[in-house]
Amino acid sequence: MSSQTIPNLMRAAVLRDVSRGFAVEEIRTPRPKEGEILIQVSACGMCHSDLHVLGGAISFPTPCVLGHEVAGVVVEIGPHNEHTTLKVGDRVAGAFLMPCGQCESCAAGRDDLCSNFFSLNRLKGQLYDGNTRLFSRDGEPIWMYSMGGLAEYCVIPTTSAAKLPDGVDPVAGAILGCAAMTAYGAVRRGADLRHGEDVAVVATGGVGSNVIQIARAFGARRVIAIDISDEKLTDAMGLGATHAVNSATTDVREAVFDITEGRGVDVAFEVLGRPETWLTALDALRDGGRMVPIGLGAGIQKAEVEINRTVRRSQSIIGSYGARTRLDLPEVVRMAASGVIDYRHIVSRRFSLDEVAEGYDLLHHGKIRGRAVVDLSL
Ligand SMILES: [Zn+2]
Ligand SMILES: [Zn+2]
Repeated sequence: MSSQTIPNLMRAAVLRDVSRGFAVEEIRTPRPKEGEILIQVSACGMCHSDLHVLGGAISFPTPCVLGHEVAGVVVEIGPHNEHTTLKVGDRVAGAFLMPCGQCESCAAGRDDLCSNFFSLNRLKGQLYDGNTRLFSRDGEPIWMYSMGGLAEYCVIPTTSAAKLPDGVDPVAGAILGCAAMTAYGAVRRGADLRHGEDVAVVATGGVGSNVIQIARAFGARRVIAIDISDEKLTDAMGLGATHAVNSATTDVREAVFDITEGRGVDVAFEVLGRPETWLTALDALRDGGRMVPIGLGAGIQKAEVEINRTVRRSQSIIGSYGARTRLDLPEVVRMAASGVIDYRHIVSRRFSLDEVAEGYDLLHHGKIRGRAVVDLSL
């Protein structure tokens, strides 16, 4: 596609005020700068962590465009992209965690700790030149949460996009850049999961469903899904969980220790970011076990940890945020392409851009199984 076919204006779900929620507006179509690409968005996933921004629990500058897991087609390659293999017309997935590629953490391969991502994008809604790419028709800046994917077009740093092979669904594939990549990072990097280990997954929504599949792929022996929804637990069993425990009706520690012959699990993933789910995960652990929290809390939240059990039983708590995007996103895409990750069945609902508020409302009320996406073709 040549640049002439890129329209000057596009539709985007703009959040101007958390008390009023989203409004679809026509704003200027962004253009890529150095080391960036422009994609026409096929779909954008709806993530639980967006709810913290929408609800005001995590502050973010407004007006802004949210949406941090996308798939789409490359329509323009910005300057100084000599080393990218991406071409106009390629289909790509974009990762929420966009490494600058130049800070000390990025130099060490720790994309997940990129200091510029946190200080510029997560705090100010900017890219790495200290500007946004989004502007209203009048030229007012609109801040970007990651790439600002709830729109017809978005700019992504080339570090954070991976080519989707033919055969990967370009709509359901949107969930690879957060739900699947976060799960991969937790299993591969956070837990460093080993073949034969027993695993518990506390909260089996979009990310948890991927943790289950990836843990199985890494050779987990038992994968115990823990949730308060029987529907979600049924889905979890379909994705490879070996056991399901409803924490609303069952004593989790007793059930997990029963299943594991009195030992507890080697690794407990906590995917919701709530004090009570932290305790559930810690309660499932065996001696020497690792608890890997992935879920973001609603602002500053604290969970109680039993000091003596942690010390005497040599248990670890290993936080895991995203993954090492440049290495791990392409691997996640390969796992999806080869069928190791069943991303298609995780996507249970598709909303149009105009229905975005309704979709997040359902997510807020726990009514979304797996993951919902905004499908820009609707
Ligand atoms: Zn997310
Ligand atoms: Zn960096």
